Parts: sequence; structure tokens; C-alpha cells
Amino acid sequence: MRPSRVTWSPTSIGVGHFGPGSRALGGSLPPMARVLVLNATYEPLAIVTPRRAVVLVLDRKAEALDGSGLWFHAERTAVEVPSVVRLRSMVVVDRSRELTISRRGVFVRDAATCQYCGDRAETIDHVIPRSRGGRHCWENVVAACRPCNVSKADRLLSETRFSLVRLPVVPRRLSWVSVAVTHVPDQWRPWLPAAA
Ligand SMILES: [Zn+2]
Repeated sequence: MRPSRVTWSPTSIGVGHFGPGSRALGGSLPPMARVLVLNATYEPLAIVTPRRAVVLVLDRKAEALDGSGLWFHAERTAVEVPSVVRLRSMVVVDRSRELTISRRGVFVRDAATCQYCGDRAETIDHVIPRSRGGRHCWENVVAACRPCNVSKADRLLSETRFSLVRLPVVPRRLSWVSVAVTHVPDQWRPWLPAAA
């Protein structure tokens, strides 16, 4: 999900670097650190890099709601790197835009469980095979173990002994957060719906 009507382009904040602050344990930011961006309405909106989040705060486009304990040092200023920021003005999100299907997303939705037998899934399967006109969409793709996938092959469910544990659906709108990151930081949890 990308905000549709906001300009993220960073303005100049001079040459800066990330480093430990008074409360930090030392070292630089973990390379995979990300910052959760909330809309002005507190709705989760996007995930950005620490640098981009710092720019939003310095530009007064966003306020920091929670800190990371690490600091961004620029020429004349030092800013605590936020873990959650809230935009000061509301971004209009196109509600019609669905979460793009991805292998990772299917695994998150199906809890990495084969939707035919309940074993650990290693593959994704098109319920209606693509060769039979099945689409590559949330409603037609499920997580599957390799044996089930191979055994089902290019057949319709009605032609096999297989049945679905659950009907595949488009994930709820906000679960994109758990699809986007491997690990949801604790600081984000108060701002996310329970399902995310
Ligand atoms: Zn299976």
C-alpha cells in the first residue's frame, strides 16, 4: 500500500548519520529497521526507512509517537529516530486498491499451512489450475505442501479427493503490515488492529 497523495521526497537536511544516542546501547541502526507511518487518523498507512521518517519529522510533516532509542545526527541537530510517526495532514487512500497478492502474503494468510491437508506448506497452489483458466488472485491461490501440490496437479477439486480447509479470501485490508515485515516491532502493536 502506497499513499496516493503525499509527496515523500526528502528535502535537504544536510549530511547526517545514524548513531547511538544517550539511551542507545551503541552501534548503528539495524539495517532492516523500519518505521511505521500512521495517517492523521491514526490508521496504519505505510512502512518507511528510518531516514525517510526522520525527514518527515524534521519537515514537520509528521510527529513522532514513539522513539527507537537511536538518534539521527545531522549537521546542527540530533533527532531521535522514531519507531512510529503520525502524519500531520490526512492522506486519502484509495480504498478500491487491494493488497497485491504475493507468495509471502499467501503464506501469512494461510499460516504457512497446507490448505488441503494441514501440513506445513512449502508451495502455493492455484485451486483452479491456471491451465484450466484459474486466475492468480487471493481467492484462487492457497498455501500447499509439496505432496498435495504434486498430487493435485492440473486438476479441479471436483476431479480429486482434495478439499479446502478454508475458503481462500482477500486478506483484511490492514494485514498488509504483517505481510510487509517479517517481524512486527513491539512499539507498533498499540497502533495495529489485533489481526495485523
Ligand atoms: Zn498438503
